[in-house]
Amino acid sequence: MIKAVDNKTRFRRLFFALALPDALQRTIVPWRADNFPPEAGRPIAAANLHLTLAFLGEVSHAKAQVLQQQAGRISQSGFNITLDDIGHWPNSGVIWLGCKNPPRGLLQLAQLLRSQAARSGCYQTPLPFHPHVTLFRGAIRPVTIPAKAPNESFRADLFSLYESVFTRGRTRYNIVQSWPLASTERKPDAI
Ligand code: ATP
Ligand code: MG
Repeated sequence: MIKAVDNKTRFRRLFFALALPDALQRTIVPWRADNFPPEAGRPIAAANLHLTLAFLGEVSHAKAQVLQQQAGRISQSGFNITLDDIGHWPNSGVIWLGCKNPPRGLLQLAQLLRSQAARSGCYQTPLPFHPHVTLFRGAIRPVTIPAKAPNESFRADLFSLYESVFTRGRTRYNIVQSWPLASTERKPDAI
């Protein structure tokens, strides 16, 4: 007999991230195909392109609830991100897009989520946060990196908690919950 998996007792692999808008995902994929050789690495599927803010690891239901409550109390404005940098970390096999000057809001949001995660006992790497969108994994061999990144911008007005699920040889991300980042536009003063 197969026992139903109880959501409250299982551990889930979770991370906070910014989604890339669909249109940007669709722009990056052909740009990547035009600018890298097929042997560069394992290309990340369009729908999986994202920017990780904080990785939580395997998390219990109770711990996830605490982290979700804390995330819900974050009050921060949205920000624009320009993907104007590109790089290769051969040791981790990652080719990425990033930003030369990450917006302060992005760094603040990641810092806050990471410190909340650390306080809840989710191990956080001591390495400095380097915001990036992974383009390829398994890129362990030398590869010629294009001289110019696509230079596309997007507005982050939402951040999300994702579950990473590995099934049938593929990694998928499911959004568990999202929270808005406030608009910076000022409302006209009430008369
Ligand atoms: P896969 O590992 O199945 O090839 P993946 O790396 O995209 O795919 P996860 O390992 O679940 O899937 O990672 C989810 C997100 O968290 C990714 O953005 C990944 O780079 C990031 N991540 C994973 N492990 C860590 C870690 N130890 N520290 C920081 N970020 C991590
Ligand atoms: Mg991984």
